[in-house]
Amino acid sequence: MSEAKPKIKAAERMKINRQAMPARDAVERSHTFGEVNLGLLEQIAILEAQRCLECKEAKCVAGCPVAVDIPGFVAKLAEGDLQAAADVLANCNALPCISGRVCPQEKQCEILCIRGKKGDPVAIGYLERFVADWALAHRGVRKAAPVPLSGKKVAVVGSGPAGLTAAGELAKLGHEVTVFEALHQPGGVLVYGIPEFRLPKEIVKAEVDALVRLGVEIRCNVIIGRSYTIDQLLQEERYDAIFIANGAGLPVFMGIPGENLKGVYSANEYLTRVNLMKAFDPNSATPVLKAKQVVVVGGGNTAMDGVRVARRLGADPSTLVYRRSRTEMPARIEEVHHAEEEGVVFQMLTNPVKILGDDKGWVRAVLCQRMELGAPDAKGRRSPVPIPNSEFEIPCEVVVEAIGTRANPLLTATTPDLKVNEKGYIQIDANNMTSKPGVFAGGDIVRGAATVILAMGDGKRTAHAIDAYLKASVQPATAN
Ligand SMILES: Cc1cc2nc3c(=O)[nH]c(=O)nc-3n(C[C@H](O)[C@H](O)[C@H](O)COP(=O)(O)OP(=O)(O)OC[C@H]3O[C@@H](n4cnc5c(N)ncnc54)[C@H](O)[C@@H]3O)c2cc1C
Ligand code: SF4
Repeated sequence: MSEAKPKIKAAERMKINRQAMPARDAVERSHTFGEVNLGLLEQIAILEAQRCLECKEAKCVAGCPVAVDIPGFVAKLAEGDLQAAADVLANCNALPCISGRVCPQEKQCEILCIRGKKGDPVAIGYLERFVADWALAHRGVRKAAPVPLSGKKVAVVGSGPAGLTAAGELAKLGHEVTVFEALHQPGGVLVYGIPEFRLPKEIVKAEVDALVRLGVEIRCNVIIGRSYTIDQLLQEERYDAIFIANGAGLPVFMGIPGENLKGVYSANEYLTRVNLMKAFDPNSATPVLKAKQVVVVGGGNTAMDGVRVARRLGADPSTLVYRRSRTEMPARIEEVHHAEEEGVVFQMLTNPVKILGDDKGWVRAVLCQRMELGAPDAKGRRSPVPIPNSEFEIPCEVVVEAIGTRANPLLTATTPDLKVNEKGYIQIDANNMTSKPGVFAGGDIVRGAATVILAMGDGKRTAHAIDAYLKASVQPATAN
């Protein structure tokens, strides 16, 4: 560890330029699944931390959905006290190695950083990742100190960021926690959706292992709504409370002709085959079509992951088709930039109207239409308007649709007294409790497709709400 650094004056801090994140070479990485961003070196991280003005009323914190003490951990890092920085971070963020990699910091904390007013904001995300990775490398496999047991059992449905965060908090509060996961591996979108080159799976595994050491039981291949209903968990399996965090993973399709042709995937299926079932490995039992020309439809993180995965599987061109312009793309700016460097072709202001097949039922092209931007919609985003007679074909053998997901009705359909809204998302009260007493919910199944950090925030808040509920429901002992 570095020696403690002397305090630096604000004027000196202002002279330091934002440090860049080293990345794997674009040509090399467009064929491999190794992580793209390589992480800051210690002295570079400390230098970047010294750019922070340690504001008394730190604007950046207001932008963080889990209110990470940004000036607190960055100040410790600037002093070279990595352990103290890691402790501050661990107190406010359960999965910092993950959020340090996938959070849209540019839209959350960094956009509010005071240094961004005249130049570049502090690279808060890079610093979070540096400190979290350092802590992970140095925490070893120490068993957590035992906590007094409450005697209460809590079931968590789903092992994405919401479920994992809640499970950790609940275990630390002394409750017996079982996580039920439908897939064969825990992690939710962190393992089946976000590819290895953005979030190495060993990081998610390390977080899951830490939960297991805390005493959390993780039961994979169990589908709630099939293997057990919510009522069975409460009545037969005697859980005192349940946290539903099963995400919103049901794919939405465009509804255009040709979607039943061979070679059309939803992004979730395509990414799950590659990320979770290791379809990129020629020896994998789960194949994926490795096409020469791939078209991915959408403009969010999922689309960006799909088109970059296709590129790595050998597609040339791997084309992204998006109906609005670059400015409206919801994907993280860094991912768009990386995709471009890797040779992804962008077809902006373009909308597929039909998928065309050959006489054997395989995809051969996508028929698209050019668009222009019209009046803003209800959310303020300019709406795409078709340009008449602008149709053209993009030849391809695979089409991946990444236009969104929605709630899977499997669980809610078997729990009729669980109130959902018109889109099928679970409704909760101010304490994150559903219409069913003792059953709570959070993450994408409540919000609709959102972000990792919001799901984690929901997990943390709900764990404390469940703890309060369990404490309130403890019957006072009666004197004989
Ligand atoms: C490809 C992709 C890329 C993304 N990239 C980013 C990004 O860069 N940054 C960001 O902040 N967000 C990103 N997101 C969004 C983010 O991943 C989600 O908002 C977040 O994972 C939601 O967390 P969750 O815990 O609510 O649900 P999920 O992560 O979806 O986890 C839900 C879990 O529940 C399981 N499950 C479902 N039904 C059942 C059942 N009936 N019984 C038992 N288990 C069940 C699922 O298998 C899954 O493991 C991305 C999403 C996708 C799809
Ligand atoms: S706003 Fe910027 S300079 Fe101020 S504490 Fe936050 S990161 Fe540091």
